Amino acid sequence: METDYDLIIIGAGPAGLTAGIYAGRYGLKVAIFDKLTAGGQLALAPLIENYPGYKTIAGPDLAELMKTHAEAAGAELFELTDVQVIQKMSNMFKVLTNNGQEFTAKAIILATGSTPRKLGVPGEEQFTGRGVSYCALCDAPFFSNKTATVIGGGNTAVVSAKYLSDLGSNVRLVHRRSTTRGEETIKKELLAQNVQFYWNSIVKEIRGKDKVTSIVLQTQGKELEIATDGVFIHVGETPVNNLAKKLGLKLNSEGFILVNHHQETSIEGIFAAGDITGGILQVSTAVGEGTIAAINAYLYIKGGWYPETGTE
Ligand code: NAP
Repeated sequence: METDYDLIIIGAGPAGLTAGIYAGRYGLKVAIFDKLTAGGQLALAPLIENYPGYKTIAGPDLAELMKTHAEAAGAELFELTDVQVIQKMSNMFKVLTNNGQEFTAKAIILATGSTPRKLGVPGEEQFTGRGVSYCALCDAPFFSNKTATVIGGGNTAVVSAKYLSDLGSNVRLVHRRSTTRGEETIKKELLAQNVQFYWNSIVKEIRGKDKVTSIVLQTQGKELEIATDGVFIHVGETPVNNLAKKLGLKLNSEGFILVNHHQETSIEGIFAAGDITGGILQVSTAVGEGTIAAINAYLYIKGGWYPETGTE
């Protein structure tokens, strides 16, 4: 098997797959590795309604389109292949995978994404998979005609609440503030679907026996126990930065990789794109960053010129 590449991309979410499309079309020999299957967090999104060109599309469908596009452009996709170590040699990188294979590349793009943040309350770990979930797309069907409580106030929480409600769950949304930061369009839909809101409420505990039966909230100075069958936790994302840390890349205070406007990291030849760089975590921004990373990786490998942007 050929193991020498121009470019190795780690992570096959929207950023990594887009970088693969561009790199392939630029004629680079490019491989994309993903420890799971292609799609990243996008493949777990019940509904995408703000990606240009698709008024409504299910996350897995959009992910599949991106995957087939990247492969058609010439990117070689290695799924279920976990990159363990990246070593910088004098003028190239060595990439070692969990199945003992060794690859080389002239440049690297890290597109390792993010993973749902834990709430950190008693009962959360104990009941994960037994009522506690971080993925509405995966688990919402188990809660149709049952009660599901969504925790969080971002877009993931409101989309999840809508999806659960659409599938016939009796949905509550618990948030520590008096409003969400989710899109107004979905918020209005939740109101129309009779989702019950618990504002200014903090989850203290998830209770149950074999599976979840209730959650305990601290709300308006009082403790309130509400019965629920499911708890969907959507309280933000944490970066998947183990490779970045091993490489010694500069990270921000939350652990996301610091990049400049060329998507260059603190190590020459290594670029980063998508959720792993923090900030606005959208499919469209991941796609944009993947594009920038791929073009700049191409220029790094081949040498060349591209117009400067106006930003610092
Ligand atoms: P997010 O936007 O960071 O929101 C996390 C929410 O969880 C916030 O409301 C936050 O409260 C709350 N939270 C954080 N820690 C908490 C804690 N310990 N206890 C209780 N609540 C806590 O995260 P997200 O909703 O997962 O979204 C991540 C990114 O993906 C965002 O950029 C989002 O726009 C994007 N996204 C986009 C789509 C889409 O466009 N289709 C769908 C899903 C997600 P505070 O408000 O008080 O900070």
